[in-house]
Amino acid sequence: MSFKNQYIQDLYNQVVKRNAGEPEFHQAVREVLESLEPVLEVHPEYITSGVMARLVEPDRIIKFRVPWVDDHGVVQVNRGFRIQFNKAIGPYKGGLRFHPSVYEGIIKFLGFEQIFKNSLTGLPIGGAKGGSDFDPKGKSDAEVMRFCQSFMTELCKHIAADTDVPAGDIGVGAREIGFLYGQYSRIRNEFSGVLTGKGLTYGGSLARTEATGYGLCYFTEEMLNDHGTSFKGKTVVISGSGNVAIYACQKATQLGAKVVTMSDSNGYIYDKNGIDLDLIKQIKEKERKRIKEYVNYHADAEYHEGCKGVWTVKCDIALPCATQNELDLEDAKILVANGVMAVSEGANMPSTIEATQYFINNNVLFGPAKAANAGGVATSALEMSQNSMRYSWTFEEVDQKLHNIMINIYHNASSAAKRFGLEGNLVAGANIAGFLKVADAMYAEGVV
Ligand code: NDP
Repeated sequence: MSFKNQYIQDLYNQVVKRNAGEPEFHQAVREVLESLEPVLEVHPEYITSGVMARLVEPDRIIKFRVPWVDDHGVVQVNRGFRIQFNKAIGPYKGGLRFHPSVYEGIIKFLGFEQIFKNSLTGLPIGGAKGGSDFDPKGKSDAEVMRFCQSFMTELCKHIAADTDVPAGDIGVGAREIGFLYGQYSRIRNEFSGVLTGKGLTYGGSLARTEATGYGLCYFTEEMLNDHGTSFKGKTVVISGSGNVAIYACQKATQLGAKVVTMSDSNGYIYDKNGIDLDLIKQIKEKERKRIKEYVNYHADAEYHEGCKGVWTVKCDIALPCATQNELDLEDAKILVANGVMAVSEGANMPSTIEATQYFINNNVLFGPAKAANAGGVATSALEMSQNSMRYSWTFEEVDQKLHNIMINIYHNASSAAKRFGLEGNLVAGANIAGFLKVADAMYAEGVV
């Protein structure tokens, strides 16, 4: 693989060398740099002023020990991370992920992508991400609380409502945000909007829980409408059964589609009659059990071990909503052979670069994560605004703002692609539109 521009090639080589053993970060940087080549031909000042070189290097990497005591009195030690990547256009903003696969490279790729996604929302938020290799699965509520308190005891030294505002991500939902917020508020003796995704009784925003999944569907509906079609009457395949997947399923169904699959890290269910979402919520959110329980309630539904099989189910629209690189070239070929017309990414970087390219080359409408799943962080920014004003908007007000933001994101990405001769390529369009605002701010703020 090689870039046309020698400077970009050298920069990419340096990223690989400096961040050895972090393939997800290399992948995220490569995709963005490829999209930006036509922009840099017209704007060489982004190279000469060091914007490009500064963009791929985080402002700050915070890495810490998280000791905690389990229910058997045994001391456990996890690793905590917060990568504050770029704050040229606003305070650092991005979720926390608790999953055993977390290491510096995962947090770095997510933090890097967050810069462009946050810029695309049109709201003043910079890019960051954090997390830990702690696995909340199978832990008691008391263990999760002790872990969260230990994690926040260190993290609280580095965040504040105008500095860095974390939120949830994989493994960090309402329960974890509550424990994290409680500890922050106790140590700092303040009540502020330092985290988003908070409960409604202590500063949370209505519609934040639904925002990423709903936003994904609003974006996808706009993309479909722009090509003379819609969700109505379509068959949809969704992977995952967490926060994003559940609310994507709900909104796609409300928009007239039939969702026939959902999955977890063990396997997937196929229900030809359409997913019973109340049952999924009961199994995954309330009981915290495995998705295979679903077939105990619906005799017609099927459970298959292994999550990759989900892409073999024939559909019109695919919404990957689980995790990075869950959809590869082989899966993309099966989806295209089965007639998929649109793929929109709810998860972060769920499609490999080869799969993405295959969809684009085969004229599949492709909504990249940076644009399609930006509804979560956009609504987090709306939560920050409400916290600053000490005011709460209604569900309908927040939902309407989210809807408008997603429509704007689609059109901004689409017109940026057109402007640089890449019409229809929303991957490039999202990267370019997100980049330009950040790059202009970095240029104006000087070498910092
Ligand atoms: P949750 O923890 O609520 O759910 C994650 C889902 O994905 C679960 O069904 C989980 O299965 C499955 N999953 C996790 N890891 C893997 C894996 N390695 N292989 C297969 N399946 C896996 O997370 P969210 O729904 O919040 O996040 C899902 C994706 O969306 C992530 O990529 C996240 O970064 C992205 N995202 C989330 C936003 C948000 O607001 N929450 C905003 C923007 C993006 P299991 O139950 O077995 O673990």
